[in-house]
Amino acid sequence: MSNSILGLHHITAIAGNAQQNFDFYTRILGLRLVKKTVNFDDPGTYHLYYGDESGAAGTILTFFPWEGIGQGTEGVGMATEIGYAVPEGSLDFWLERFKENKVVTGEIAQRFGETILPFKDPDGLSLSLIIPEKADTRTPWETDTVKKEIATSGFHSTTLSLQKIDETAKVLTDIFGYSLVSQEGNRYRFITDTVETASIVDILELPDGTRGRNAAGTNHHVAFRVKDEAAQMEFREKILSKNLQITPKIDRDYFFSLYFREPGGVLFEIATENPGFTADEPLNELGTHLMLPHQHAHLRDDLEKLLPKLG
Ligand code: ZN
Repeated sequence: MSNSILGLHHITAIAGNAQQNFDFYTRILGLRLVKKTVNFDDPGTYHLYYGDESGAAGTILTFFPWEGIGQGTEGVGMATEIGYAVPEGSLDFWLERFKENKVVTGEIAQRFGETILPFKDPDGLSLSLIIPEKADTRTPWETDTVKKEIATSGFHSTTLSLQKIDETAKVLTDIFGYSLVSQEGNRYRFITDTVETASIVDILELPDGTRGRNAAGTNHHVAFRVKDEAAQMEFREKILSKNLQITPKIDRDYFFSLYFREPGGVLFEIATENPGFTADEPLNELGTHLMLPHQHAHLRDDLEKLLPKLG
């Protein structure tokens, strides 16, 4: 088990305005900002991480807010939906909250026997609240207005939109250890049994779909979770043996990462559980300071002036 893929680690998406993004995810959705840092590859912009109390793997949604980047378009070769698990009986609360806050919602629907409520964030990113078939036992983060009884406990699933599923399905099954468990129309559900939650990847097959444009309101990549760097490097070898290109190990301060583009066009990452978000801030202060990686520490004075204050 220790050298398996343990479901989703995090999902990273692109936003426009940082304050608007912060308000939506912390105030409306009730997530915790667990890390306020910069894009390590572009330190003039934030990298914001939202999750549960500790930012546990399988709860983390991260954003690069690029003011003025413009609206992206969802399409094939991308993750096109982020599914959050919520408790049975919570959807009335969420519908009312979304209405009050003018959040765009879709119709409540059934998918693989589970009830889902689709909604959009302010940049148009597609998300959904899902009542899992089997109750989620993770403890959610709680705010003044989003109490534990109705809060999301983290990811349920993500959906990848692809022109053809075959090659991507092989990555999920032959390399990552997922199994194809069911199909509804052009939606195929893959699950790993190594974890109880954040264990689902759906593939939506859209043979005539056009490629998306990666800007605000679209997902940038999907990260899968491994225990540690030893497990991660085993996957690096497996992926290379399938003639796919993959980066060397990259230190992201809160986890170690490998990136590769799966054959359907989605950027995948393999990220470690260690060292986690308490590497540079205590648990009760997560997300409250601007944290910089050592390579950008000398830019602190400039970045504190340049980056918009969030509050
Ligand atoms: Zn990532």
